[in-house]
Amino acid sequence: GVLIVGSINADLTTFSSRLPAPGETLLGDDFTLVLGGKGANQAVAAGLAGGNAHMVGCVGTDAFSTVLTDGLRDSGVGVTHLRSVPGPSGIAHIRVDAAGENNIVVVPLANDALTEEQIDAAIADLAPHCRVLLTQLEIPWALTQHAIRRAHDAGLTVVLDPAPALALDENIWPLVDIVTPNETEAAILTGIPVTDAASAVEAGRWFTSRGASSALITLAAAGAVMVTAESVEHFDALRVNALDTTAAGDAFAGYLGASLADGYERTDAIRRAIAAGALTVTRRGASPSIPNSDDVAAMLES
Ligand code: ADP
Repeated sequence: GVLIVGSINADLTTFSSRLPAPGETLLGDDFTLVLGGKGANQAVAAGLAGGNAHMVGCVGTDAFSTVLTDGLRDSGVGVTHLRSVPGPSGIAHIRVDAAGENNIVVVPLANDALTEEQIDAAIADLAPHCRVLLTQLEIPWALTQHAIRRAHDAGLTVVLDPAPALALDENIWPLVDIVTPNETEAAILTGIPVTDAASAVEAGRWFTSRGASSALITLAAAGAVMVTAESVEHFDALRVNALDTTAAGDAFAGYLGASLADGYERTDAIRRAIAAGALTVTRRGASPSIPNSDDVAAMLES
């Protein structure tokens, strides 16, 4: 199984022909309210992948909280370590344009109620049944760091998707088995401008030289690059028609974590993650655009 520690948000998304300029009001074409948050999206991906996923996080007690809890459960995610805290659930306010480009404001709200005690209880309960911790940077860094330390001590494989990127304490890297930044995140974390496979390899070496076992840098339509101390491997993306890039990285991370937890070889886990990312960009929205394992298998065979 895979244990996901992270954010859970109600995604309120507008669709419009283009993104508004500052101060501008636009008439849009559509609106959706769905489960989101990088933690929950990755949990949904891991659940759909068949990875026996368990979410560790907080929702509120508002009208959105049932949408969030049901969304996780319906994707096969265990919710026994989901905590309901009085007040509003976390929200993300997303705009998507006709080209699939987006911008996002996240307000954590209930997510701020997550504690070290909740993480400790979840790891104590779930570590015997789980192989992988998957976590991100949408909850306070002190908590992410705590989860990584405890999971590492419990012998789990630690997968850190460093999104949204921020400068991190360097002593975390020896505890990270796989770090999965996109180009922007890799550049922010390493200070190396990442624009292609060659610069991604350079950024990958930055992580491994600081103690991370491996860095898997995602390059959108250019695929991904896996860097370890001993090797570099390039993985091509699958060719698709991109409609909305929201949650591609989350689908990728969730499928990667779940596949590793399910015992897939690392290269096969990465191929599944790439197929999941490709299918996600062909569909609108965050968690609802994440494909199930049959669609991913069909994509890999096509
Ligand atoms: P993020 O969503 O975090 O910015 P990426 O854009 O790098 O991450 O996407 C993650 C993965 O999803 C990529 O490694 C790739 O496999 C897949 N992917 C993303 N965009 C595309 C695309 N336009 N065509 C095909 N695959 C894509």
